[in-house]
Amino acid sequence: MLDSDFSTYTIYEWFEFEPSEDEEYISTVSRKIRIPKIVITRSSVSFHMSKPKVSRLGVFIRDGFRCQYCGMRVSYKNLTVDHVVPKSRGGKTDWMNVVTSCMDCNIKKGDRTPEEANMTLIKEPHIPFISILNARDIDLKFYPEWEQFILR
Ligand SMILES: [Zn+2]
Repeated sequence: MLDSDFSTYTIYEWFEFEPSEDEEYISTVSRKIRIPKIVITRSSVSFHMSKPKVSRLGVFIRDGFRCQYCGMRVSYKNLTVDHVVPKSRGGKTDWMNVVTSCMDCNIKKGDRTPEEANMTLIKEPHIPFISILNARDIDLKFYPEWEQFILR
């Protein structure tokens, strides 16, 4: 059972807590600072507005680990990242041009556009919010107290 009795502190109040032996902390020249498990920010505009970097895992998470051509959910090792407009045809590696594809669909599509290959995307690629990628990527076994703050 998680302890849901949380309190909030300003950063200066937080500095006053001495870390105990079993707590994680960072050392500065003058003090040890406990590492907070949860940080609340007043504003996260720049955080949400920043464009997440394209990554293989990020593309799979955005697409729900589902092939964007046949709609099949496939295991991680059988997923590929497909360039909708092939790289050889000037297609860029950006969120709007990469989708999750199963191995079979990627081979079938080859070096063609979906139209040329007579294949249809089940949904148009989009730029995901960085928070979606981060939240799903968190391994809660290390920080179970985060569970109640994460939307899945
Ligand atoms: Zn497929």
